[in-house]
Amino acid sequence: MFEIFVRTHFSSAHYLRNYPGKCEFLHGHNWEVEAAVKTEKLDAIDVGLDFKEFKKALFVIMEELDHKNLNEHPAFANCNPSSEKLAQYIFGRLKEELQTNPNVSVSRVLIMETPGCGVVYTE
Ligand SMILES: [Zn+2]
Repeated sequence: MFEIFVRTHFSSAHYLRNYPGKCEFLHGHNWEVEAAVKTEKLDAIDVGLDFKEFKKALFVIMEELDHKNLNEHPAFANCNPSSEKLAQYIFGRLKEELQTNPNVSVSRVLIMETPGCGVVYTE
């Protein structure tokens, strides 16, 4: 089994509704993201997923989130844009973006809102 990953980042604002502290107020983060897919198969040139294809899929999602107030994003209309929900959202979107490639499946999405603090989402 191969796990292939790409790291990227985006900047956005959010606040956590009903949070008992400073995070209840609008603030920003430079989010670090690491997304991974797994595959058992390599293609004719021994590649599991072309990094170019992987980065393109992830870029589409980053563009949706970059320089936005995440609380105004439809995905977070009924939940907090916490690191947990953000990782889960990126995971689901990446599945959609890569669904045309049957050889790979999304294995995990790691997100860090500050250096050293993060969440990994898997299914
Ligand atoms: Zn925050």
